[in-house]
Amino acid sequence: MKYRVMGLIAEGKTKLVYALDDPSLVLLRFKDQVTALDGKKKDVIPGKGALNANISARLFQILKQNGVENHYVETYDDSSLVVKRLQMIPVEVVCRNVATGSIVKRLPVAEGTVFDPPVVEFFLKDDARGDPMINESHMVALKLATKSEVGQMVDAILRANEVLKRFLEGRGMTLLDFKLEFGRADGGLLIGDELNPDCMRVRDASTERVLDKDLYRRGASLEEVKKAYEEFYRRIMER
Ligand code: 5GP
Repeated sequence: MKYRVMGLIAEGKTKLVYALDDPSLVLLRFKDQVTALDGKKKDVIPGKGALNANISARLFQILKQNGVENHYVETYDDSSLVVKRLQMIPVEVVCRNVATGSIVKRLPVAEGTVFDPPVVEFFLKDDARGDPMINESHMVALKLATKSEVGQMVDAILRANEVLKRFLEGRGMTLLDFKLEFGRADGGLLIGDELNPDCMRVRDASTERVLDKDLYRRGASLEEVKKAYEEFYRRIMER
């Protein structure tokens, strides 16, 4: 093996972070756990960790090939990726092409409304407070990010959106929305975390069949959720 795996640095709901012998890198190991409702609903889907690791790797590669830099370095094993070590900003950045999910509960906008240009929103990562929505002024005042970093996050997620939307359209899928997280390395900002059906909404373009975690949120069986993730993986791997 090219890298030596050292101690556990952090554990989240769906991932483990390990130090590597190269201090500029870490190992992200994807768990088989699936969660919703800020962790209040949880289950295990054997094989989901590997699917999400491989889906993230593929989508991060697509972004990189299209000039959208991110933390992905290489795939380590079936369920682990080597990524750049980042100092993470505890904010979820969401980009929406179509109104669904939390926005239709918060604002007077009908389900299915197309956003052109896309909407960008920020949420503080704080399960106890239900991940409240925040704005640029909050982020600056709470010293979560500078004004310039907020601008860089907006610019990066909009560019990622264009690349992902086009890529998925080419495979007969529609990208409704997705979430990214950012971190700092060598003074600059980089897209980090993961990119897979846990943090995006994707539908079959012709049938509108759900291919993401909304299935789990809506109470579908764990087998159905896994089948959808497998189908999504198959479709993004097609050459
Ligand atoms: P919403 O705000 O509508 O619940 O979510 C918008 C998008 O961001 C969806 O694609 C959803 O999957 C993603 N998202 C929002 N919050 C979280 C979160 O806490 N974890 C993950 N993995 N994705 C999230």
